[in-house]
Amino acid sequence: LAGPGPRTRTTQTHCPYCSLQCGVTMTAGDRPATLQPADFPTNRGGLCSKGWSAPELLDHPERLTRPLVRAVPGDRTSPLVESTWEEALDRVVAAIERTQAEHGRDAVGCFGGGGLTNEQAYQFGKFARVALRTSAIDYNGRFCMSSAAGAANRAFGLDRGMPFPLSDVAAADVVVLVGSNPADTMPPAMQWFDEGRARGAQHVVVDPRRTATARNAALHLQPLPGTDLALANALLHIAIAEGLVDEDYVAARTTGFEQVREGVGAYWPDRVERLTGVPVADQRRTVFALARAERAIVLTARGAEQHRSGTDTAQAWINLALALGLPGREGSGWATVTGQGNGQGGREHGQKADQLPGYRRLADPAARAHVASVWGVDPDDLPMPGKSAFELLDALGTDGGVRTLLVLASNVAVSAPDARRVISRLADLDFLAVSDFFLSETAELADVVLPSAMWAEEDGTMTNVEGRVVRRRRALDPPDGVRDDLQLLAELADRLGAGHLFSADPETVFAELGRASAGGAADYAGISYRRIDDEQGVFWPCPAPDHPGTPRLFLDRFATPDGRARFLRVEHVEAHERPDDEYPYVLTTGRVLGQYQSGTQTRRSRSLQLIAPLPRAELHPDLARRLGIGPDDVVELATRRGRARFSAQLTDDIRPDVVFAPFHWGGGSSANALTDADALDPTSRMPAFKVCAVAVTRVAGP
Ligand code: SF4
Repeated sequence: LAGPGPRTRTTQTHCPYCSLQCGVTMTAGDRPATLQPADFPTNRGGLCSKGWSAPELLDHPERLTRPLVRAVPGDRTSPLVESTWEEALDRVVAAIERTQAEHGRDAVGCFGGGGLTNEQAYQFGKFARVALRTSAIDYNGRFCMSSAAGAANRAFGLDRGMPFPLSDVAAADVVVLVGSNPADTMPPAMQWFDEGRARGAQHVVVDPRRTATARNAALHLQPLPGTDLALANALLHIAIAEGLVDEDYVAARTTGFEQVREGVGAYWPDRVERLTGVPVADQRRTVFALARAERAIVLTARGAEQHRSGTDTAQAWINLALALGLPGREGSGWATVTGQGNGQGGREHGQKADQLPGYRRLADPAARAHVASVWGVDPDDLPMPGKSAFELLDALGTDGGVRTLLVLASNVAVSAPDARRVISRLADLDFLAVSDFFLSETAELADVVLPSAMWAEEDGTMTNVEGRVVRRRRALDPPDGVRDDLQLLAELADRLGAGHLFSADPETVFAELGRASAGGAADYAGISYRRIDDEQGVFWPCPAPDHPGTPRLFLDRFATPDGRARFLRVEHVEAHERPDDEYPYVLTTGRVLGQYQSGTQTRRSRSLQLIAPLPRAELHPDLARRLGIGPDDVVELATRRGRARFSAQLTDDIRPDVVFAPFHWGGGSSANALTDADALDPTSRMPAFKVCAVAVTRVAGP
């Protein structure tokens, strides 16, 4: 075999997919590029199949390398044809100007994603507020992390998903994972869990499915989807009844426990067993294990959070952790496991409807004044908060809604709830522009498609699951005709008369982001590219160049005004949709090992197709027998929103009253064509991805 050619070079960077942000060493120069796992602190030489396969897509034949525009401008039934960047950008800017002249500034909207780098997310928020002066911006993280973020802000005064490094998981004696399946979603993270288990640590998994993570756990609790809050309250009920509450900690470091103590009195374990299906004995084992451990951690993820009461559900688990004295104690605590690659950074820098960089609130006059001074604009010119993601999408094309939309790094036609309704709203737009690497299901609907650089072709930073800011480094040049989203935003701003305020240089943008975030909750002021290089990432907050960064938060005080964590009484509410005669089962959705998010990338990977080639719905064999369904039969799932077809996977890993469908596919196998968006969480505006009522019928044989 020939070794690397003289023109090849190696670059340390990170996998493009999930929030673990595994370190990789890219070898590039002569395409195709290749990678090897690096010995980075989060993955320590590990990598999952998604990471290994990532370079395949850089040279994929379906990669977009020229802008696409409609052959007949304004007619989306005409084909998309290649154009120059000049023409594509001219069309986008003409649509923005026409829409704002006719319908006002807020009729132009922006929709971002948790896969954007910190610099791109920051610049997109600034672009909306400064170049477009629109309030209409939100992003797909609203569908992902917003409930956990809402709960953490309420309880601790600050949302950093994991307020301690991942290595604490290995040192914990007990870890309870609620609706979290890292064995499939981020396999290299399992080495931390395995290390703990090898020492004798006990892991408890709370999940309606016996996932790969649950199979390795000491105990698996299998509640009905949508009942996690009641379960957490029952565990706290037991802790109080058994005298397991850490009263000294509660008195010294928290407020509000008495209301919670009173509230959970009604959650008798035997009643909760009937509601959730989790035996009282297992409830008790979990509480006693947590309470007796020297170091204990409670982790929640989307299974607990993607509900109409997702914020309260996360709070219920935080209440339990607080009562046992875990948060803010070294080696213990509560955390949420972020999903998207930059799910953490993506929610810190201003692409959320109500936020400015540094987690500042857009409605706060002091925050507006600070950020406006960094941006060189008048604070009175900054718009006020706009609509949350689903509300923004649901109003597309309506009076008072967005009529021209710019989408970066998001495939809402697959990932949004009630996806067919969202697709029909997208069709109602006057103009849709999408920046992506491939012709995603959302890009297929666009007037203009802008080909963007992929992970290995751009510089920037990402903030991983632990709050560690890492460097994405450019390992090779993008194909001719492809531009980075920072370039795109700078060029659009230039055409809109604001070009002098928008740099396309990532390091310059990062330095500005640091100034904009200075003094805010997510303070990046002391972080530089050089420091990230030298220190293998820096944990925020890091307010000054000589500050070491903050791997562990809350050790002395919480980020609330009085420094105490807040208990909040929360109550179980029924899921918005309950099974009935017409739709007799519960549908829950999620991810599988070989795919990632809306599948725009992973469905095009030949290697991953071998692992997860088909959308498969999981059904219990007892349910399948009753419905006359055999292994690999084609089944149709129907809900009040629509129908979708899947191959049947019969497994006793799932409850007999629950059906699971992965959400990585669109078209006729779109799980999100089935999900319910009519009841949003009142705090986070999170839709109920994890529970709705479904009917199942056999359509055909394998
Ligand atoms: Fe990439 Fe996540 Fe897999 Fe690591 S665990 S290789 S970051 S997808």
